[in-house]
Amino acid sequence: MQTNQIANFKANEIIRKCVHCGFCLATCPTYQLLGSELDSPRGRIYLIKSSLEKNHFSGESIKHLDRCLTCRACETTCPSGVEYGKLIDIGREFVEQKRPVWQKAMRYSIRKLLTTPVLFNPIGRISRHSKKQGEAIEPIVNSKKVLLLGGCVQPVLAPNINHSIKNILAKLGFEAIETPQKQCCGAVDQHLSAEHDALIKIKSNIDTWIEFDVDTIISSASGCGLMVKDYASLFTQGDDYYQKAQEISNKTQDIAEFLIDKDLSKLELEQANISYHEPCTLQHGQKLAGLVNSILDSLGYSPAPVKDSHLCCGSAGTYSIFQPDLSNKLKKNKLNNLNASNPQMIVTANIGCLMHLQKDSEIPVKHWVELLDNQTN
Ligand code: SF4
Ligand code: SF4
Repeated sequence: MQTNQIANFKANEIIRKCVHCGFCLATCPTYQLLGSELDSPRGRIYLIKSSLEKNHFSGESIKHLDRCLTCRACETTCPSGVEYGKLIDIGREFVEQKRPVWQKAMRYSIRKLLTTPVLFNPIGRISRHSKKQGEAIEPIVNSKKVLLLGGCVQPVLAPNINHSIKNILAKLGFEAIETPQKQCCGAVDQHLSAEHDALIKIKSNIDTWIEFDVDTIISSASGCGLMVKDYASLFTQGDDYYQKAQEISNKTQDIAEFLIDKDLSKLELEQANISYHEPCTLQHGQKLAGLVNSILDSLGYSPAPVKDSHLCCGSAGTYSIFQPDLSNKLKKNKLNNLNASNPQMIVTANIGCLMHLQKDSEIPVKHWVELLDNQTN
């Protein structure tokens, strides 16, 4: 079967589940801002259907698909289980052919800039969010090993996040082996319709990571964690990589999933009145809504409930670069809601949200794990 026939088949299966009820409209950030059916999940499903079935799409269709944040809030709300995230990837791949050349060139440049360390690092260092704080704690001899997904932009922009995780895990009796920066998860390529480049990275990661023979792979950036958990879905069952991808996906946990059943009483906590922003990739993508909140509650932070916590902050991978107006509106709303309880600090669970919110926040924005590695006590 041709690739586009497989894509069509998958897309039709997903589209058929939509009963047009419109429940998803209420939780779609772009529909809330723009009020137009074509900027809602149901409208975009219609656009993708008409593109695939009738080969009918235009610059307008691309505009409405581009405005989608891929936040997947619509999936959380949908009573019919429409896998909107998978559908929008198929739709975007299809309409990509009709994108104007200047847009293709711009998207290619940004994609390469973000995923090529030698290009990204000098720029990333200039806009670095925070340096490593305190000493590295050595794990005890014969600690159980886990693999820590280092990430591609995170080690440059906020190296303290992985540093804190390694320290926390060392105290809990684990040694975290950090993957090198060049092993990007493939999400940037995948979401910018460069599936071929994404698959090259993904296959190389699978081959490398499987050699470590660890039971657990930890992600501290919820966007990367979601991508890796989805690896298996990118291969057909007959593909050589399917089983290996399944193994990697099954072993991957967000750091919150790893810590939830551990005794955290020996960690030194940074005391702060905090507000917590739950990334879409964690709550709607990985379906782990409330997990970080429950850890923070158990440690005595008790962040106040945040109005519209299900709505995206506007970061959404490269969305803030390509859709700055909508992205900034969402950020403004999000910061107003996060600041309603007068916190001293905002914490989150994804480097993209962290950098995006910090840009306009008057108070510090950190990854929540950094609260658990206080070396100033
Ligand atoms: S909630 Fe689900 S079934 Fe209803 S319109 Fe939205 S996508 Fe379709
Ligand atoms: S993924 Fe987010 S922005 Fe896109 S249609 Fe769904 S709710 Fe709206």
